[in-house]
Amino acid sequence: MPRTKKQKTTIIEPKTHRRISFQTIKGTKDILPEEQPHWEFVRDTVKKIAQEYGFSRIDTPIIEDVNVFVRGVGRDTDIVEKEMFVFKDKGGGTLCLRPENTASIARAYIEHGFATRVQPVKLYYLGSMFRYDQPQAGRRRQFEQFGFEVLGSASPASDAQMILIAVNILKSLGLTDLNIQLNSIGCPDCRSAYRETLLAYYQSQISRLCPDCKRRLRANPLRLLDCKEEKCQRLANQAPVLIDFLCEGCHDHFKAVLEYLDKLEIVYNLNPRLVRGLDYYTNTVFEIWPGKSGRREGARQAALGGGGRYNNLIESLGGNPTPGVGFSCGIERIILQLVERGVEVPPSSPKPAILLAQLGEFAKRKALVLFEELRGEGIYVAESFSRDSLKSQLKVADRLKVKLVLILGQREALEGTILIRDMETGIQELVNRDKAVTEVKKRLEKMRRG
Ligand code: AMP
Repeated sequence: MPRTKKQKTTIIEPKTHRRISFQTIKGTKDILPEEQPHWEFVRDTVKKIAQEYGFSRIDTPIIEDVNVFVRGVGRDTDIVEKEMFVFKDKGGGTLCLRPENTASIARAYIEHGFATRVQPVKLYYLGSMFRYDQPQAGRRRQFEQFGFEVLGSASPASDAQMILIAVNILKSLGLTDLNIQLNSIGCPDCRSAYRETLLAYYQSQISRLCPDCKRRLRANPLRLLDCKEEKCQRLANQAPVLIDFLCEGCHDHFKAVLEYLDKLEIVYNLNPRLVRGLDYYTNTVFEIWPGKSGRREGARQAALGGGGRYNNLIESLGGNPTPGVGFSCGIERIILQLVERGVEVPPSSPKPAILLAQLGEFAKRKALVLFEELRGEGIYVAESFSRDSLKSQLKVADRLKVKLVLILGQREALEGTILIRDMETGIQELVNRDKAVTEVKKRLEKMRRG
């Protein structure tokens, strides 16, 4: 399908005489028909692999009570503090467009009593997320993620399997050059010892911090490790690392995850600076970056996916203590990689092998009926009901590269016949209208066999 130039339409509002122009909102994008094969390829691959690993799909609403994220993700995280689309509804409630889906799934787990089901509960999702951030390549205000969550499993095998699933999906899509960044950020116990050391470090550097970090320092010094400001990132690179403060339980858990990954022959890079700025993470955290090099610069923006363990999330939303682990990947960024690497994707829908052409009003009515008959037989037919001249209809047939054209002219319609034209040889054969479907099927079968 040809790409058309973007147009901006403007109208003058009659009452106010204000100019209104219509175009997509900043940071959002229409996904056009010609782009759909890439999207379908990713979604189909996700669905197939989810099935293979025994995950069931869940769809949660796009709007949620803002507290799901304030409590789940954390009040002083970048996502909640700066990036959420928050609005009041007419009933006075404070809602938001979901910025991520793990907290929503934890909410759903509690709300639907999933704790009474066989554990662990294995769920996956596909859907739009919303973050008010500065748009750029691979960063949008509305973007689509797929994600997998295992709720009710504390086993390090689940952590390893999450990484394995993410890698397998990306590899199945043709992205084989991947760089897995891995760390453990321990449990709240390990963090309280670390917090003191980190606080002391940052207090010695306080004059070099950005205003947000200065403000956050007392409340949550861990948050400073994730600041996007360049000068704060430089300081974060020199800061003490949490991995040196892991308690015995967290140390053993992480060691077991690494052993599973080794067994699965998944190559990873230990990155003690990876913290993944959401409050709910405990223990294992990981990100998948494109390319083998594992460059740090721009990595946050370039990560294809990320995830980790969240043992306290369900409890923080009012459920019983329930461990969990999961990941999400951004489809826009994956598609950017597919395009950049020239990965061939299958067409979204099968190409029609036949075009049904018609001439004259009477024939058109008969053609509409025949189209339904062919469709009912599972034969994929292109039609040109909006065209009247045979020449223009044959042009469409050429463009679509169909093998056969069925021509129903005024005469054929009256006589109860139809012309079948073989587009390769140009040979036309007149057949009885009642035998048209059988004849088409026979020819398609013959072509299929070659
Ligand atoms: P996060 O949990 O924030 O690391 O998000 C997981 C994945 O979602 C990232 O690795 C990206 O692929 C994708 N992602 C996050 N934010 C955006 C965004 N604003 N635009 C496009 N993709 C995003």
